[in-house]
Amino acid sequence: MNQRREDTVTGPPAAIVWFRRDLRLADNPALRAARDAGMRIVPVYIHAHEEETPWAPGGASRWWLHHSLAALDRDLRRHGSGLVIRRGPSLEALRRLARETGAGAVHWNRLYEPAAIARDGAIKQTLRQDGLDAHSHNAALLFEPWALQTQSGGPYRVFTPFWKACLGLGLAENAAPPPEALALMAAESESLNTLGLLPQRPWADAFADHWQPGERGAQDALATFLDRAAADYAAGRDLPSERATSRLSPHLHFGEIGPRQIAAAAQAHMARSTDRGTFSGLETFLRELGWREFAHHLLFHFPQTSERSLDARFEAFPWTRDHASRLEAWQRGRTGIPLVDAGMRELWHTGWMHNRVRMVVASFLTKNLLTPWQAGARWFWDTLLDADLANNTLGWQWTAGCGADAAPYFRVFNPVLQGRKFDPQGRYLRRWLPELARLPDKDLHAPWEASAQTLQHAGIRLGRDYPNPLVDLAVSRKQALAAYQSIKTA
Ligand code: FAD
Repeated sequence: MNQRREDTVTGPPAAIVWFRRDLRLADNPALRAARDAGMRIVPVYIHAHEEETPWAPGGASRWWLHHSLAALDRDLRRHGSGLVIRRGPSLEALRRLARETGAGAVHWNRLYEPAAIARDGAIKQTLRQDGLDAHSHNAALLFEPWALQTQSGGPYRVFTPFWKACLGLGLAENAAPPPEALALMAAESESLNTLGLLPQRPWADAFADHWQPGERGAQDALATFLDRAAADYAAGRDLPSERATSRLSPHLHFGEIGPRQIAAAAQAHMARSTDRGTFSGLETFLRELGWREFAHHLLFHFPQTSERSLDARFEAFPWTRDHASRLEAWQRGRTGIPLVDAGMRELWHTGWMHNRVRMVVASFLTKNLLTPWQAGARWFWDTLLDADLANNTLGWQWTAGCGADAAPYFRVFNPVLQGRKFDPQGRYLRRWLPELARLPDKDLHAPWEASAQTLQHAGIRLGRDYPNPLVDLAVSRKQALAAYQSIKTA
């Protein structure tokens, strides 16, 4: 301790770099700013106090966070000193750390959720009043949400013109490489394990078979995607049985990689490639990254939407009041509708679900089961490794038909037709619903339509080995449309 105080007095000035959801060294503007100013860097992660955010990370995200912080600590140690871990309230933790290290500056990268914006604004003001240099930077988005406006001066609510405006500004062609050297300064730290981020249940044990949290894992995922999947992405991204998408979403959420890095790498790959499939695949992929930007734009400009429908008419929507048992069947993958159950089991086992299946399960919950979208969003929040307030809110409101640029309400995804179209050989279903594996392809997506003989042959008794459907798809669709009609004309 004394040794450090002496260093503080005699060495170059110190700056705190406050890591939050920017858990990387490359293309990290906060880190770069501190380094370029010639400062010794105190890298800190502060575990926020629960009162600081109404959306503290859910169970799956906490697993990821634990491993991502461990990875960042390892990467920093290669530069001489590890990640300092402290507990919130964040402001007090920063002030204490500044006192201990003699730091004269604090740098961080911005978060865009409403509660984080309010907290960080207050922290910046207080630190400046304390006489510290406090600066925030953009590591998470291609464009700041306030940098894009419609011609009439408001925020965008429709994706296509939003993305056109983004492309007009130009996507990043370069991203900063990892720093060759960092002058780090040690400080007292809690051990990562004391934060208790890992779930007690064995639920999360299987996550490690599917994922590698950390900056290295993110770079590997990007390289694998560009080499193996980009050429078929435009069509392949709809097939849940294929590994045809990037699986970058949890890495992006925790900032182990940033969108500038992804856009720059994708554009460089396009420039090198002579294959038209790769070109259109990556154009489509960049557009998906655009949906992520759009989600952040919307949450920034409509901060109430993580709780309430953007379309105010949905405040009066006649959701089913007593939906607990239906919600539980959906959560457990026991609705009797194979594509829905397969998706919910994929989520439980891997912490991720394919995008097309996310749309199908969300449509089923909100329309066929008339359960409020917020209940589904909360379950996703707890079980998705990529749970992200902006993307999750957009995904649920889009599917439920109550958000910006949403799917029209009358578009009720039919899980049987979706399954037959996007999983025709039932590979995805057989992976997650082994009890149905012996059914022929044509019956797999609607086992209740199979003949008694076929079911017997496949060793299935509906209601015992696999549930009967919770609702009739056609009848519940009609009920959903009638419910919508009641608010449409209200
Ligand atoms: P890729 O197809 O490889 O796309 C690359 C990146 O683009 C993704 O990592 C993601 O950051 C972004 N992206 C892709 N599709 C979308 C989209 N529709 N909306 C916003 N960004 C997108 N995504 C999350 O990251 N967190 C969530 O909590 C989340 N909840 C969702 C809830 C519902 C009901 C729905 C329908 C979608 C949700 N999504 C969410 C969006 C999408 O399903 C995932 O981003 C995608 O499946 C992640 O897989 P990937 O990284 O392989 O995607």
